[in-house]
Formats: sequence, C-alpha cells, structure tokens
Amino acid sequence: MSAPLSTEKLTPKDFASSQEVKWCPGCGDYSILKQVQTVFPELEVEREKFVIVSGIGCSSRFPYYMETYGMHSIHGRAFAVASGLKATNPDLHVWVVTGDGDALSIGGNHFIHLMRRNFDIKVMMFNNQIYGLTKGQYSPTSEKGKQTKSTPYGSIDEPFNPAELALGAKASFVARTLDRDPKHMQAMIRRSHEHKGTSFLEIYQNCPVFNDAAFFPFTDRETRKEESLFVEDGMPLIFGQNDEKGIKLDGLTPVVVDLNSSGVSRDDLWIHKEGDKTKAGILARFFEQPGHHGLPRPFGVFYSEVRACYEDDLDQQIEHSRNTKGKIPLSKILSGDRTWVIAD
Ligand code: SF4
Repeated sequence: MSAPLSTEKLTPKDFASSQEVKWCPGCGDYSILKQVQTVFPELEVEREKFVIVSGIGCSSRFPYYMETYGMHSIHGRAFAVASGLKATNPDLHVWVVTGDGDALSIGGNHFIHLMRRNFDIKVMMFNNQIYGLTKGQYSPTSEKGKQTKSTPYGSIDEPFNPAELALGAKASFVARTLDRDPKHMQAMIRRSHEHKGTSFLEIYQNCPVFNDAAFFPFTDRETRKEESLFVEDGMPLIFGQNDEKGIKLDGLTPVVVDLNSSGVSRDDLWIHKEGDKTKAGILARFFEQPGHHGLPRPFGVFYSEVRACYEDDLDQQIEHSRNTKGKIPLSKILSGDRTWVIAD
C-alpha cells in the first residue's frame, strides 16, 4: 500500500489494487467489487483505516482487489480474525467478505458468535447457493433437491435462511440486496457502514458457471417487479408491475392484497419498521411461508437496533479493572489464586 492519503479526497480508483481480477467472466462478484469501490470514497474514512478480512472461496479473493489493508485468512475463520483485529484496534473499519459456504458451513459457529457479540464489524456475505471455488458442490443455502457433484440424487438437507439465522443469533443489523441492482447495493453498503455494531448484509450473487440464474426471478426485467419487494423504514409494503399489490398482516401471517380490487387502501398495509424484530423475522421467512401465497422476496434493511458494541464493553471492563485492582501481570491473572503444586 502506498503512503497514507488521510488528507486527500479519495476516488474509486484509489480503492482499486493493481492485482488482476481473477473471477470467471460474468460473475456477480465484479458488480459487488465495483459498488464497494464506488461507496468507500464517499464514506470519508482514511484509506489506511479500512481492513478487509476474508475466509476461503471465490468471494474471499476480495482483499486482493482492494487497495486497503486486508487479510485472506482461513476457511470460516474471517470472523475470528476480524474480531481480534477490532478488539485490539477499535479505530479500524473492519469489513468481512465471505460466501455462503465459508460463513454458514465451515464458519457457522464463528458466524453466530460474531452476531451476538456485536463487534462494530461489517459483514458482506455473497450468497450464490453453491461452492464455486471447489467447482460446484451444494452449499448450506442450496435448495432441497439441488443436484450437484456432491448430491447427484438431489440434496436432502434443509437449507439455511441466512437472514433468519442472523436474526436468531441476535444480529443488530440485517439486510439483503442483489448483485444486479447497483444502486440498491450501494445504499445497503452505506447503511452497513453507518450502523454501529455488527451489520450482516446478504448479497444474492449469480455464479454463472455452477449455479446460473438462481436469482433471475428477482433481477429479470420481466419478473422482478412481481417477485421482489423493496422495504423502506416507515413505508407500506407495496410491489407489483404497477405498484398495485400490497402486503397486509392477518395476525402474524402476511397476505398479498390487490390494491385495485380488494378495497384495502395503502393505509391498511403493513408499514415497515426497522426496529420491529418480530416483523423482521416474518420478512426473513417470506419464502418459507407454506405455499408462499404469492409473496415476493424482500430486499432492504429488515432490522436495525442500537446496542453496545463488544469492543466498547471490553475497553470499559479493562479500564474498570485497572482502576480498581491496578495493573496485574497476565501470568497472575491466568494462574489466579486457585492453583496447586503437586508434590513429587
Ligand atoms: Fe464467480 Fe462462480 Fe466463477 Fe466463482 S465459480 S468466480 S462464484 S462465476
């Protein structure tokens, strides 16, 4: 990395490294890289304060392509590396780039604990519902029945729903976006940055080589308006070719209504509130509702709450301990006052 640029106005070019980008032609990762390089200069953070940590997989090549500090770590362990980094250098802006296999299978345990601890770390999980780097095995988000090299007769695993998993693990910010909607992705990257705490951003990413078109219903011109729903805080849930459909809650069951013929007005619809965890859970499970009832796939910020960050609590605890007990050598803390020496 060249000299710090703290005082200079940064541009997307400042965040592009000299490395040759080695993803397959047409891979959705290119769009994600472009949006991150577009948004980072706008954040007005000194370039030397960014660190991008990845695990293993196609997405995890990301740090090579960013002109920031970074670490291509080991499979499923980016969350642990990032946590250590943030705990010891809280001034850094730590971003984790991971994939569905890296985050939810090999790194599943680390993933849930990062969510509950709430370090101020930004997670971008590229979900392509397949293992791409190892050439097409089913992943923890592959749908049931998926035929791959490792499931020749179809997967019999129930897939993870990443947003639901993050909410269940006490994530303080959960959002979803798509590789083919650059504007929306940029907005979600900005929101992730603005959130103080662990932000989990699931990005639907097309893998044209091993799982092409997995998300095309939500991106194709013909179908996307019928199949996708973009939620905004304080706004009613409306979708459809001409915004003629809305979502209403019948108890806790979401129901699609036709705004032209049902007699239901916009005021009767579900109004999205980012702080409502119960409704965030319903949104995350839309595609798991029995029969789906024509429910679209939601995108946007499902949930956001403000709560203490791990590194701040850790700092306070150390400070308090020093003030009340003084500086104690680590060896003494580790051995404590309940150790025994066994005589020969
Ligand atoms: Fe992208 Fe798939 Fe190629 Fe990996 S295998 S670089 S995810 S297209």
